[in-house]
Amino acid sequence: MTAMAIYPILIHPDPRLKKVCEPVDDITPELRKLADDMLETMYDAPGVGLAAPQIGILKRLIVLDCVKEEGEAPKPVAMFNPEITWESDEISTYEEGCLSIPEQYADVDRPAIVKARWLDVDGKVQEEQFDGLWATCVQHEIDHLNGKLFIDYLGSMKRQMITRKMQKLKRERTRT
Ligand SMILES: [Zn+2]
Repeated sequence: MTAMAIYPILIHPDPRLKKVCEPVDDITPELRKLADDMLETMYDAPGVGLAAPQIGILKRLIVLDCVKEEGEAPKPVAMFNPEITWESDEISTYEEGCLSIPEQYADVDRPAIVKARWLDVDGKVQEEQFDGLWATCVQHEIDHLNGKLFIDYLGSMKRQMITRKMQKLKRERTRT
């Protein structure tokens, strides 16, 4: 076994965060290792979800674990080629953030309950219904695979303001 790796997370704006990612054909040992490394990277950040393009890998793979309660067992999930197969008419609003847009948060409306279908690490098809934070997170992460960020749901003024802050943050980070 090789050791877990923690990847650097791309910060918006970055052209790789705007790309439509490629589906995965079969789940190779390399892809299983990548899923483990992405979970490790997500827990380290810390965050509740991470999509492969956020580490510069343009494949349809997301990981999530929205268990937030202290003392509750973690529930790591890796999804290859995830798709939303059903969504509720009911909408819920969550204050979202993103590991590629650090320390910026905004309310986003999305379907409150969704069903998602994906391939698991063993290549088996899974389908599950999600609500609460899990529903928000799975939709946010699948958006990443289509080059969409949560700030794309905001008005252009707010989006530009956040983008300028991120450009400044990136300049500061390269200087130090
Ligand atoms: Zn994100």
